[in-house]
Amino acid sequence: MTVPIAKLSFWGVRGSTPTVDPATWRYGGNTPCLELIAPDGTQFILDCGTGLRMLGNRWAAPSGGKARETHILVTHYHWDHIQGIPFFSPLYVENNEFHFYSFRSKFLGRDSLKQVFEAQMAMPYFPVDMSAMSAKRKFKEVDGGDSLKVGENKITARWLNHPQGCLGFRIETPAGTVAYATDNEPGDAKLDENLRELAAGADIFINDAQFTPEQLETTRRGWGHSSWLEGAKVARQADAKTLVLFHHDPDSTDRMVDAILRQAREQFDSVFAASEGMVVTLGAPGDRVQAHMPGTRTALRREAQFHAKVCGVTEGGKDFEEETMVRDISLQGALISLKHLPRLQSELQVTMEAPGADGVQTMKLRGYVVRIDAGVEKGHSAVGVVFTD
Ligand SMILES: [Zn+2]
Ligand SMILES: [Zn+2]
Repeated sequence: MTVPIAKLSFWGVRGSTPTVDPATWRYGGNTPCLELIAPDGTQFILDCGTGLRMLGNRWAAPSGGKARETHILVTHYHWDHIQGIPFFSPLYVENNEFHFYSFRSKFLGRDSLKQVFEAQMAMPYFPVDMSAMSAKRKFKEVDGGDSLKVGENKITARWLNHPQGCLGFRIETPAGTVAYATDNEPGDAKLDENLRELAAGADIFINDAQFTPEQLETTRRGWGHSSWLEGAKVARQADAKTLVLFHHDPDSTDRMVDAILRQAREQFDSVFAASEGMVVTLGAPGDRVQAHMPGTRTALRREAQFHAKVCGVTEGGKDFEEETMVRDISLQGALISLKHLPRLQSELQVTMEAPGADGVQTMKLRGYVVRIDAGVEKGHSAVGVVFTD
């Protein structure tokens, strides 16, 4: 018997508006879009932010002409959650079939999401009209409190506290449960309870972490968003296993998200900051939840041979120091072979020795762990870092 495995991919993690500022490069600038492949092969897409374009490009690779069915859950109609739709190439392919789920907005009435499609592609906002979208599209209205079954998976929707309304989704698969709660603000007793219900015992709890706790108490109160501190609190109360901080503020640089993640990890054991390209596996033997970071962002690389001393924090939270060799380097990062298993998204101090004209020169760099793979050497891991300064 094979073990049921679900794969959750993050295609867009930025809130409000896309960013191309180089200081936001590591976590990524595309707006919300997630993909969940359930063990029975059902493909879910959560939200249609600009990350949807990248997902569409990947899947444009030939699929043998076989009709594909995809279930797309849209949390609400704010720009950052719908703006990827016209740029999603699979919508222009006849054999594809899409089932869209979203709520009836009181501002739009019946077939709200269908109207969103038409409005986005109306003249003069977009050069191509709706008739070019030849994929089959079916629209289903869901309301807070509704549950439905897709394949072997159960989906539950709950209202969250956000201007003009937002749905949170809980998807229970045979490999584990994902709770997706973007765009929500704490402070409404009933809706706070909804959030805890969505997150109850979830393997992955994805929560809005746009603001700092200070901002949430002062200048950003009432804006409809949450903080890492609230996420950690709800994760503890609801007994969620892993918290993912999501919907990063467009003004939050990578260094600011690093700091937010560090603080959250002091409050809750298992936390990641959502990062574009991050893939989380549920149900694999061993760890309940395994996270992998993108390999696609690596720049031009060169093989090298540098002695290095590496200091960091292990998966179990212990400090370590280790001498090793750096064998692969680019201007942005390096691949380092380590016996210790550092924590993903933690910081490493890398001191490299390079032969110079006046003897050995040392180079001190701060690395941020973006990936961990089985290494070529036995008992070692290949640890990918991005240099942050
Ligand atoms: Zn949003
Ligand atoms: Zn919103």
